[in-house]
Amino acid sequence: MKAKYRFLGGADMVGCMGMTLEWPGKTVLIEYGMNPTKPPEYPIPAPPVDHVFLTHSHLDHCGMIPAVCGRQHCELFTTPLSAEVGELLMNDSVKIAKAENYPLQYSAGDIDRTMRNVVPFTFGDTIEVGSADVTLHSAGHIPGAAMFMFEGDTSTLYTGDIHTIDQKLVKKAEPVKCENLIIEGTYGGRDHPPQKQTEQEFLEKVREVVERGGTCLIPVFAIGRTQEIMLQLMDLDYEMWVDGMGRSVTRLYLEYPEYLNNPRKLKSARRNFHTVKHSNMRRNAAKGQVIVTTGGMMDGGPVLSYVNKIKNDPRSAILIVGYQADDTNGRMLLDHGALNIDGVIEKIQCEVERFDFSAHAGHSQIVEFIHGCNPDNIVFMHSEVRELFLPDLQDYNVILPEPDKVYEMEL
Ligand SMILES: [Zn+2]
Repeated sequence: MKAKYRFLGGADMVGCMGMTLEWPGKTVLIEYGMNPTKPPEYPIPAPPVDHVFLTHSHLDHCGMIPAVCGRQHCELFTTPLSAEVGELLMNDSVKIAKAENYPLQYSAGDIDRTMRNVVPFTFGDTIEVGSADVTLHSAGHIPGAAMFMFEGDTSTLYTGDIHTIDQKLVKKAEPVKCENLIIEGTYGGRDHPPQKQTEQEFLEKVREVVERGGTCLIPVFAIGRTQEIMLQLMDLDYEMWVDGMGRSVTRLYLEYPEYLNNPRKLKSARRNFHTVKHSNMRRNAAKGQVIVTTGGMMDGGPVLSYVNKIKNDPRSAILIVGYQADDTNGRMLLDHGALNIDGVIEKIQCEVERFDFSAHAGHSQIVEFIHGCNPDNIVFMHSEVRELFLPDLQDYNVILPEPDKVYEMEL
């Protein structure tokens, strides 16, 4: 049957995801996120829709969902874990908007209504949505992250964010045969170094810093990266602390062990870390040898209070393990060795190193995944470098959609 799709955001950029998919009798919204920049960026306003689908709970995929599910009272299809983590993030983004005086995009009531409208489904489940069937597959990105397969007369796979190798936290995504493949292309033109090598170099650096008497400060995102880094460090016999929203996310992950690569290991990793439960525990944590804490791009969260303790100590180090967007503190640290601390730009004297841990597939991994799905048509999204895939995909019909433009497809 004939269908139409339109990106409300996130077609030619990383962030602000949102795509409507319309087939006879139904219009659905797949993801609706925001970018937590200052001020925040939002996708194009969503039209009236029948249902919303969420692949996973990173803010750029879920941050604006209450503005649709809360207001329009429509159902939200996602894994129960993504729903619970999403609720944490949505409440947090309302809190931040209030603190920073940004216009509120939705209320706490909208978040409550969204959560009441969640229809939980999980990998392997199929639901009927009008004249199409929708099946959930694991996306291997973070725990609970899903890909959606829409089947009418043909099959269409929407990947969301994916990784195609096993991480310590979550197992990899497997390709699924389909005719249309709507896939992320974050790492067009770039491959990650071999994962084992990155893990070894990271552990060696942590040991080196601690053995010379310094503290390792590791800024992390709360969702996924906090837990992956705890798993990487779990066998070290040092005084290690974890701080920030990642703690609540770890608790949620352990409530849904079926989405984890190895729940037993995450449990014991958590036991090997001291937890900052109140802000007055930060003084003790700052004396620790390893501190894993939000915010991942060093623009907020407890991380800056720890920076103050180590910034002039050449024995200590800040180890960057996540993506640093332009115009963030973390990006300034990498490019200029300086940080904005309470409005003052300060040169940082401690060591700064970057490690390429990623929850996204690299270029070659995406190409290999595409061959495995063997589609006729490929739609690239979530990428500023989509055209870099074209030379490797000459046997396919590749579409690089523009935002806010309507495209047709067979569903
Ligand atoms: Zn993501």
